[in-house]
Amino acid sequence: MQMTSGPTDYQELLHTAMAAAERTAGQGRVADYIPALATADPNAFGMALATVDGDLHGVGDWEQSFSVQSVSKLFSLALVLTHREHQLWRGVGREPSGNPFNSLVQLEKENGIPRNPFINAGALVVTDRLQSLTGDAAGAVRDFLRQESGNPLLDTDPVVAASEAEHGHRNAALAHFIASHGNLENPVETVLDRYYAQCSIAASCRDLALAGRFLARHGLRADGSRLMPGSDAKRINAVLLTCGAYDAAGEFAFRVGLPGKSGVGGGIVAILPGRAAVCAWGPSLDKVGNSVAAVAALDAFTTASGWSVF
Ligand code: GLU
Repeated sequence: MQMTSGPTDYQELLHTAMAAAERTAGQGRVADYIPALATADPNAFGMALATVDGDLHGVGDWEQSFSVQSVSKLFSLALVLTHREHQLWRGVGREPSGNPFNSLVQLEKENGIPRNPFINAGALVVTDRLQSLTGDAAGAVRDFLRQESGNPLLDTDPVVAASEAEHGHRNAALAHFIASHGNLENPVETVLDRYYAQCSIAASCRDLALAGRFLARHGLRADGSRLMPGSDAKRINAVLLTCGAYDAAGEFAFRVGLPGKSGVGGGIVAILPGRAAVCAWGPSLDKVGNSVAAVAALDAFTTASGWSVF
């Protein structure tokens, strides 16, 4: 990783990032296809950074909870990979999709094997496997986030989960289609219920930066125990870089230069391997579903610091 010289002033870097986020005011739109998300304040912004040495920094609304949505997919994938007996890669690919996150088109052509674990189809397969491995996929994600963040109150927001279920026709269609190809181990209803519960977890930038830190620490958890081999952390970071920002993963890599996962709640977790995990949040989204403010903040952060994986 490229380094700047001199002492690191993380707080100053975060303020630089927040200033860039503020310049995007008025751009983008809050997600409303899940009605419960539409109430988010479009001008909210927060950003947190958790270093591998245990330091924690934040600016703006960094301790305010928001709906993690697809950011949860990074954690469900990681948890499946911690089970030696998983055979996940038989049922899901590792290529960018170049299609909207909830597209049905590709799945039809590719016989029910989703392109990657971060589009909705792939995430449904991941949730299904985590359900088989743990008996409660969403509970496993919640417990991991609680443990890594030290926040025992972190939980699913039942109002958001119910809103997702009520308006989840596309996800239901995807799940039934995948099941029709024999690529789900659990009943469709169970997979959808656990998927909505996982996406509807409410957490803050602080919580998510701390929880994502195992990827900056090459697989080591907050308590120093090993979650996964460094090679699996590398693989997750690689899939995050190529597939983590919907069908704008190329644009995200171009601007930010880090592995990252975004969600329609407006959060993005990004990893600086060997250094830190960051989480930026702003609810207004661009056309593909990435937070306008969070992308601008991460762009400014890596530009000012000179840190990227390239
Ligand atoms: N729960 C959301 C959905 O399935 C997640 C979307 C996202 O954040 O990408 O539509």
